[in-house]
Amino acid sequence: MIERALISEFKKAVGAEHCTTDPADLALYAYDATTVEGNPDCVVFPATTDEVAAALRLANDARVPVVPRGAGTGLSGGAVPVKGGIVLSLARMNKIIEIDRANLVCRAEAGTVTGVIASAAVAQGLYYPPDPSSINFCTIGGNVAHNAGGLHALKYGVTKNYLLGLTAVLPGGEVLKTGVRTMKGVVGYDLTKLICGSEGTLAVVTEVTLKLIPHPPHRAVAVASYPTAKAAGEAVSAIIAARILPAMLEFIDNTSLRCVEDYLKVGFPIDAGALLLVEIDGRPESVRAELDTAVEILKKNGATSLSFADDPVGCERLWEARRAVAPSLGKASPRRISEDITVPRARIPDALERIGDIGRKHAIPTAVFGHAGDGNLHVNLLADQRDLAIRPRMQAAIEDILRLALDLGGTLSGEHGVGLAKKSCLGWEIGADGMRILREIKKTFDPNNILNPGKILPEIGSE
Ligand SMILES: Cc1cc2nc3c(=O)[nH]c(=O)nc-3n(C[C@H](O)[C@H](O)[C@H](O)COP(=O)(O)OP(=O)(O)OC[C@H]3O[C@@H](n4cnc5c(N)ncnc54)[C@H](O)[C@@H]3O)c2cc1C
Repeated sequence: MIERALISEFKKAVGAEHCTTDPADLALYAYDATTVEGNPDCVVFPATTDEVAAALRLANDARVPVVPRGAGTGLSGGAVPVKGGIVLSLARMNKIIEIDRANLVCRAEAGTVTGVIASAAVAQGLYYPPDPSSINFCTIGGNVAHNAGGLHALKYGVTKNYLLGLTAVLPGGEVLKTGVRTMKGVVGYDLTKLICGSEGTLAVVTEVTLKLIPHPPHRAVAVASYPTAKAAGEAVSAIIAARILPAMLEFIDNTSLRCVEDYLKVGFPIDAGALLLVEIDGRPESVRAELDTAVEILKKNGATSLSFADDPVGCERLWEARRAVAPSLGKASPRRISEDITVPRARIPDALERIGDIGRKHAIPTAVFGHAGDGNLHVNLLADQRDLAIRPRMQAAIEDILRLALDLGGTLSGEHGVGLAKKSCLGWEIGADGMRILREIKKTFDPNNILNPGKILPEIGSE
């Protein structure tokens, strides 16, 4: 419990109406998009970098945990205050500060919703490509903290590829400005990229400087259905091996397909074993030529039906359907577990086959979808993780899936991060020396371990 006197100090720092200890409010900040829970003692809503600094100084002096929070859409428990303390919400810091059209740069406060930045860029004929499926409600600060990817990461990369610099507040309240607003810059260790992906454990990001690019003039999407997930996986590997670079190459298996069709009624062929969504963008002539080549490969690999969209409304409708896959699975199986492995693209068919085997071995239904062009598969275990009779089987299945990712030369997470969910297995991938360096970095930034404690790094001795 936090002392009442300290709460009064937080109220002085951010304004009494922007600091709450009302149990009804606290309950809203006890969750993210996982099923993990943990009640904070207090939620503060600073409006400026200086207010963030003042709140952190108070918490650091009192050794009280602080959990930074964007929109709470994270899928690894990162924004859940499992050790109590303060939730520091960036919700009031939600302004685009500048779109510099001459230099193709955007500056925004960390609590700005990513989709607002993307739309503001489009209004200027520009493009901010990282588009997590949660784009319409997650924040840019949360994206930086997770180095979020998205549907268009295959061609355009992830958040860190567009992050030029940031303003961040260290746990002791010092304001750090990192990076550049130029297209190049190699001065010193790259603190911008170190903070990107640090999941709120090193510093609170308050402002970001992002690179924008010209908006592609044209896009077209092909939707191909396959009799089996493995056949669709083989088509993905074939497209990558043919050196075609789609803007988007997404995979949806039959279970996910049925759920999303039930949820949105898009007209997807629900009897297909799996669907691929392949988007090509660029100048109209090159889009047509590249799409023809991609379609040849899709057909050669056994596509049983094909449909197309080449207008903005049609493409947006398909993206919307793809973005709805996770919520539709959530509706069908609210207590499911969603894993997030990435494997080398040529190993996708093996991964899909072995994920099916793992589900059968543990008698847990699975649904797989994801950014197949990146090798990033979201493996959903469709069971109630709160059911004590099933939980051990779910845990064993998760462990098998994570081991599979590493066996195939992949990684434990493509974009959802470590948070609470994967900290016990981090050492499998990073190794003992890597873990030691991560701990030393954490200690340098946060010697009193107040910033998002218990996330990413396992307790010492539990690795
Ligand atoms: C339906 C759905 C679809 C999704 N699709 C994708 C996808 O395609 N790609 C993808 O990458 N992710 C996806 N996600 C996961 C999630 O949206 C992203 O991880 C997103 O980046 C989280 O942003 P947020 O603002 O909600 O952060 P939160 O959930 O509030 O926080 C996430 C982590 O970041 C930290 N944090 C938040 N803000 C800051 C800050 N300003 N400074 C320091 N640390 C901070 C928190 O402490 C926490 O550890 C999806 C989630 C959902 C629910």
